Amino acid sequence: MTVVKNICCIGAGYVGGPTCAVLAYKCPDIKVTIVDLSEARIAAWNSDNLPIYEPGLDQVVFECRGKNLFFSTNVDAAIQEADLIFVSVNTPTKKTGMGAGMAADLAYVESATRRIAEVAKSSKIVVEKSTVPCRTAQSMRTILEANSTPEIHFDILSNPEFLAEGTAIKDLLNPDRVLIGALQTESGIEAQNALVDVYTHWVPKDRVITTNLWSSELSKLAANAMLAQRISSINALSAICEATGADVDEVAFACGKDTRLGSKFLKASVGFGGSCFQKDILNLVYLSQQLNLPEVADYWQQVVTMNEYQKKRFVRNIISTLFNTITNKKIAVLGFAFKKDTGDTRESAAITLIKDFMQENARVAIYDPKVEPQQIYMDLAEPGVLVGAQEQVEKKVQICQSAYEAADGADAVVIVTEWDEFRDDQLDYAKIYAGMNKPAFLYTKDTVTMDRIQQTSGAKSTQPTIPTTRITTKTAVRPTRASLARRDMVQKQKQQEQ
Ligand code: NAD
Repeated sequence: MTVVKNICCIGAGYVGGPTCAVLAYKCPDIKVTIVDLSEARIAAWNSDNLPIYEPGLDQVVFECRGKNLFFSTNVDAAIQEADLIFVSVNTPTKKTGMGAGMAADLAYVESATRRIAEVAKSSKIVVEKSTVPCRTAQSMRTILEANSTPEIHFDILSNPEFLAEGTAIKDLLNPDRVLIGALQTESGIEAQNALVDVYTHWVPKDRVITTNLWSSELSKLAANAMLAQRISSINALSAICEATGADVDEVAFACGKDTRLGSKFLKASVGFGGSCFQKDILNLVYLSQQLNLPEVADYWQQVVTMNEYQKKRFVRNIISTLFNTITNKKIAVLGFAFKKDTGDTRESAAITLIKDFMQENARVAIYDPKVEPQQIYMDLAEPGVLVGAQEQVEKKVQICQSAYEAADGADAVVIVTEWDEFRDDQLDYAKIYAGMNKPAFLYTKDTVTMDRIQQTSGAKSTQPTIPTTRITTKTAVRPTRASLARRDMVQKQKQQEQ
């Protein structure tokens, strides 16, 4: 029976960092070393200012760092020491060559695998943590086996990560499931059991699922595609709601009450963002095309197409309510990260929206509590611009230190990321309104905030009213607190009348 005592994680990013920090936290008997080629990233992991923001992460890292958790750029030494190696490197969508714009770029996975093959001096369990197309483990196995000797044997496992940024620590401490795929050979199953033993330090055994290697790889793409599909479905319905007078919150609530559907991920929005959904669906589309399944490819492609349509529709509605022109108007964008509680901006809807505002010659003021200005400049620069990106973007956008500064003199405020600090019980909307050009417009995808603003505005006649526009994209897994309260009141009245 193999017992894991020393783990190396290649890739200290959004997945490798939190995942292996929690592993070290929950397994004090295992030494965990997280390595990366980026010196800056490793230096940040070794500092008080961690390179990524994730609620609860500081506490976990500060508790174990220097005890059984280490961050290093010495990739080779960590590989040599480890019994088990997680490969948690980036797998972005390919930009050029065959499959450009769709297929996952596996260059980083391949280079990490080749490094393991080159420097390993003892047998290893190699775990594919990155999200990869189905059957990538086969290529990894070929590379590793070409370098194996009678003394050195490699087993490959697939252990895709299901954490969501913003709730990573919570998800890792209490996962819905952990999935471990292995080749169904004697040594494959032994390696699988060794990783099961690591996770069962804190995850109940019935939540650790073991499958064959290919099912595990495909399940990750399938889960992300299905989650994104629900968002695109409710967003498609939100367009129908606006055209018919139906309320998407109510439709989502009514549908979500069906236990076969459930309420999660039925939240209409400006569109999904983040580094995974779009990339993984396109990955699945490409896989379907390669397998000569064009109808299947078209089906999943539509989920992405719908998402792009939703973002465009949001912008169109903003422009049309602002009297069909935003030229020289100041638009305050609150939030730039792809969702709250993360500083990650990859594929954030904010990027598309702001680029569209810039195209229309609007003046854009941006505030986000966790995204660094440098990141915003990079994201908004024209593709390929690495030098002078800041100067180029600075001409058109202003990056602000607070929501009040961004909204000062603005014609419209657009809440793109639902950070808690933009809720109406945290932000003084009367003050925001007072500083804005009139008529002032507020656009939000969060009906909770909006309903409460409307309610407050209605309740206190002295309070200034911001003319809110119920744009395209209203939330709703469930009705808002305000509408629930209204519904309860109506029901009570009816009961009293009876
Ligand atoms: P990331 O870009 O934040 O981190 C990847 C890190 O790997 C980088 O710091 C990079 O420098 C490092 N790296 C690349 N090649 C290397 C090499 N050969 N040796 C050492 N270090 C190397 O990416 P991420 O968001 O952590 O994602 C990693 C993988 O996990 C991807 O496949 C992604 O699809 C998947 N995933 C991401 C999430 C998420 O929410 N971000 C969730 C689940 C799965």
